[in-house]
Amino acid sequence: MRILRGLGSRLLACGCFVGVYETYSGETVEIVEERGPRCTDLSHEDGRATRKPAQPPRRSEQHVA
Ligand SMILES: [Zn+2]
Repeated sequence: MRILRGLGSRLLACGCFVGVYETYSGETVEIVEERGPRCTDLSHEDGRATRKPAQPPRRSEQHVA
């Protein structure tokens, strides 16, 4: 998985803070930047992508060539 660019970051309901990134394959992934102190999801680890595919942030401009 290669990161193309960062799209932003957000706080998950479990308390983890994740960065949202776009990969070269066009997928959007969330990578845990800081695990929430009360997070119970064992798949959430610092520096690891979450299992669920991230919601791609809506873009205001969509260029369809
Ligand atoms: Zn979590």
